[in-house]
Amino acid sequence: MLQLRPGCECCDRDLPADSADARICSFECTFCAGCAEQRLLGRCPNCGGELLPRPRRVGAALARPPASTERVFKPQASSA
Ligand SMILES: [Zn+2]
Ligand SMILES: [Zn+2]
Repeated sequence: MLQLRPGCECCDRDLPADSADARICSFECTFCAGCAEQRLLGRCPNCGGELLPRPRRVGAALARPPASTERVFKPQASSA
Protein backbone atom coordinates (compact mmCIF):
# COMPACT_ATOMS: atom_id res chain seq x y z
CA MET A 1 0.00 0.00 0.00
CA LEU A 2 1.22 3.50 -0.78
CA GLN A 3 2.34 5.57 2.17
CA LEU A 4 0.58 8.63 0.77
CA ARG A 5 3.09 11.05 2.24
CA PRO A 6 1.48 14.28 3.35
CA GLY A 7 3.61 16.88 1.61
CA CYS A 8 5.95 17.84 -1.23
CA GLU A 9 9.62 16.98 -0.56
CA CYS A 10 10.68 20.02 -2.52
CA CYS A 11 8.52 22.87 -1.19
CA ASP A 12 6.69 21.24 1.71
CA ARG A 13 3.32 22.04 0.23
CA ASP A 14 0.49 19.97 1.70
CA LEU A 15 -0.54 17.05 -0.44
CA PRO A 16 -3.54 15.35 1.14
CA ALA A 17 -4.39 11.81 0.10
CA ASP A 18 -7.20 13.01 -2.13
CA SER A 19 -5.13 15.74 -3.81
CA ALA A 20 -4.91 15.65 -7.58
CA ASP A 21 -1.63 17.59 -7.45
CA ALA A 22 0.59 14.90 -5.93
CA ARG A 23 3.32 13.22 -8.00
CA ILE A 24 5.34 10.19 -6.93
CA CYS A 25 8.17 8.03 -8.22
CA SER A 26 8.38 4.28 -7.80
CA PHE A 27 10.05 4.77 -4.40
CA GLU A 28 7.20 7.02 -3.30
CA CYS A 29 9.30 10.16 -3.25
CA THR A 30 6.47 12.67 -3.23
CA PHE A 31 6.25 16.08 -4.86
CA CYS A 32 3.58 18.57 -5.84
CA ALA A 33 2.64 18.97 -9.48
CA GLY A 34 4.30 22.38 -9.70
CA CYS A 35 7.69 21.15 -8.49
CA ALA A 36 7.48 17.91 -10.45
CA GLU A 37 6.74 19.63 -13.72
CA GLN A 38 8.52 22.97 -13.52
CA ARG A 39 11.49 22.40 -11.22
CA LEU A 40 12.17 18.70 -11.60
CA LEU A 41 11.01 18.27 -15.20
CA GLY A 42 9.24 15.02 -14.44
CA ARG A 43 12.28 13.30 -12.89
CA CYS A 44 12.71 12.39 -9.25
CA PRO A 45 15.82 14.20 -7.90
CA ASN A 46 16.45 11.40 -5.39
CA CYS A 47 16.41 8.35 -7.63
CA GLY A 48 16.12 9.65 -11.18
CA GLY A 49 12.81 7.90 -11.70
CA GLU A 50 9.71 9.11 -13.45
CA LEU A 51 7.27 11.23 -11.49
CA LEU A 52 3.70 10.25 -12.17
CA PRO A 53 0.35 11.34 -10.77
CA ARG A 54 -0.31 9.66 -7.44
CA PRO A 55 -3.47 7.60 -7.23
CA ARG A 56 -5.91 9.30 -4.95
CA ARG A 57 -7.47 7.68 -1.92
CA VAL A 58 -10.89 9.18 -1.46
CA GLY A 59 -14.13 8.89 0.42
CA ALA A 60 -14.71 5.84 2.56
CA ALA A 61 -11.29 4.39 1.76
CA LEU A 62 -9.65 7.50 3.17
CA ALA A 63 -11.51 7.35 6.47
CA ARG A 64 -10.98 3.65 6.96
CA PRO A 65 -7.83 2.49 8.76
CA PRO A 66 -5.50 0.30 6.65
CA ALA A 67 -6.26 -2.79 8.66
CA SER A 68 -9.62 -3.22 10.27
CA THR A 69 -9.65 -3.86 14.01
CA GLU A 70 -13.35 -4.52 14.03
CA ARG A 71 -14.25 -8.16 14.47
CA VAL A 72 -16.86 -9.66 12.26
CA PHE A 73 -18.63 -12.37 14.17
CA LYS A 74 -22.10 -13.48 13.26
CA PRO A 75 -23.29 -16.49 15.20
CA GLN A 76 -26.17 -18.04 13.37
CA ALA A 77 -28.23 -19.35 16.30
CA SER A 78 -27.54 -16.91 19.15
CA SER A 79 -30.99 -15.37 19.38
CA ALA A 80 -34.45 -16.47 18.45
ZN1 LIG B 1 6.45 21.28 -4.32
ZN1 LIG C 1 12.48 8.86 -6.17
